[in-house]
Amino acid sequence: MKQTNVRQFFQKFPTDEACLEHLFNVRFGQGHVCPKCEREAKWYRLTNEQAFACQWCGHHIHPMVGSIFEKSRTPLQLWFYAIFLFTTSKHGVSGKELQRQLGVTYKTAWRMARLIREHMAAVDGDEPIGGEGKVVEVDETYYGKTVKGRRGRSLDGKAVLVGMVERDGRVITKAIPDIKAVTLHEAVEQSVAKGTELHADQLNSYNHLDQKGYDLKRVNKLRDGWYVGPAGETVNAIENFWRHLKCSIEGTHTSVSPKYLERYAKEFEYRFNRRMRPEMMLDELLSRFPELDA
Ligand SMILES: [Zn+2]
Repeated sequence: MKQTNVRQFFQKFPTDEACLEHLFNVRFGQGHVCPKCEREAKWYRLTNEQAFACQWCGHHIHPMVGSIFEKSRTPLQLWFYAIFLFTTSKHGVSGKELQRQLGVTYKTAWRMARLIREHMAAVDGDEPIGGEGKVVEVDETYYGKTVKGRRGRSLDGKAVLVGMVERDGRVITKAIPDIKAVTLHEAVEQSVAKGTELHADQLNSYNHLDQKGYDLKRVNKLRDGWYVGPAGETVNAIENFWRHLKCSIEGTHTSVSPKYLERYAKEFEYRFNRRMRPEMMLDELLSRFPELDA
């Protein structure tokens, strides 16, 4: 199946009204039991507010309440279109780009982009990866001005991300305050199931993960310009993810403050984790709102 194109998008969501109806249907739907009178109800669209009313008691449901669309004066169709742009872009969507495409102010565009990234992160979730018979690569990366020599230097102001990617599977990224063993071990233990074959480079902080239930393989031998482990183990997949993230940030955003780096990483994480079935992204982002259950 192919990804939705712009024409199909506007066929499916021709108006703000169609978007509101979509939101009502995916979150509640006809027959939804009324929270007030507790009866299965038909719901009628109110004309004077963006809400639906119970056929029995008139109770109102506002489909946007609690979602990223709440408290926004931006038309719902523009929101949906912004999300569409996030699903079709390979290198991310900047506030400037949204401003241009949607014709909203930069402030509005920036806020929309932030909320969409948070939504993508919530939908992606943080289910651990790996397990018996699975291979996971772990690696850390630095973001900030002129990092010379990664090892053993102060991180002064630079942002650090740790990433773990399962072979042919999902990636999980996290912002971390430092690269101490205790920090990296905690990140791995939160995100990678015990019993996993774990590939890590020679950073000392990864030492002793083999004592925490992982089959730790060190990638520390230079062969043909690449670091590999004794049996050819690599951390190439996670390094490729970092490379793509950094190139995209430079190309799309020029720069990103360390404070917001994790949000950008999560946007890329969301798309990476759906790289085998990108056609489901738009539907998923417009029908699942896990942040509402939090
Ligand atoms: Zn009712």
